Amino acid sequence: MLAILTGIPGTGKTTVAKMALEILKQSNVNYELVNFGDIMFEIARSKNLVEQRDNMRKLKPEVQKELQKKAARKISRMSSGKNIMVDTHCTISTPKGYLPGLPKWVLDELTPDIFMIVEAEPKEIAMRRYSDKTRKRDSEITEEIRMHQELNRSIAMVYSAFSGCTVKIVQNHQGKAEEAARGMSKILR
Ligand code: AMP
Ligand code: MG
Repeated sequence: MLAILTGIPGTGKTTVAKMALEILKQSNVNYELVNFGDIMFEIARSKNLVEQRDNMRKLKPEVQKELQKKAARKISRMSSGKNIMVDTHCTISTPKGYLPGLPKWVLDELTPDIFMIVEAEPKEIAMRRYSDKTRKRDSEITEEIRMHQELNRSIAMVYSAFSGCTVKIVQNHQGKAEEAARGMSKILR
């Protein structure tokens, strides 16, 4: 089984996923959690393209796509014969606009079975992301977050149409991470 884990920063996707994998372990279902960004960063650093992982999204789109393809191939090789969960992004916000996290060439390498989007209320995400909200008004921040989550739902259905994977939306509301993790663990058995 290959599961894709996505969610915009501040949704708590990594926290929920780690809890879900712990629950699964108790019934002897094991997944390896692989971070797509880590693999891309390893490759980018070995080529001296970036020093910081947060700067990868500022590289030329062509360079990012080349790294993306190489990372997908590497993960595909790692995943044969085991359950794997790939922590990544539906879309990456770059200075030139949104870059798809799983364009066709990535889906062709990974052939995912299940695609998960972890979501939260825009207000909750804004709270988790920004302790200093002075730079922008709250309404602007929450509107941007709402739009990004909507965009990600749409592109997830396109990924589903290309690869045949199912799409599961997991809500992670404040103080309800365990509930979200239980829901996630059910679909990964
Ligand atoms: P993360 O730590 O999961 O937020 O990911 C760090 C960085 O890795 C992101 O900001 C992107 O630059 C890159 N990244 C992760 N997944 C992908 C992907 N599927 N396609 C392109 N870049 C990605
Ligand atoms: Mg994370």
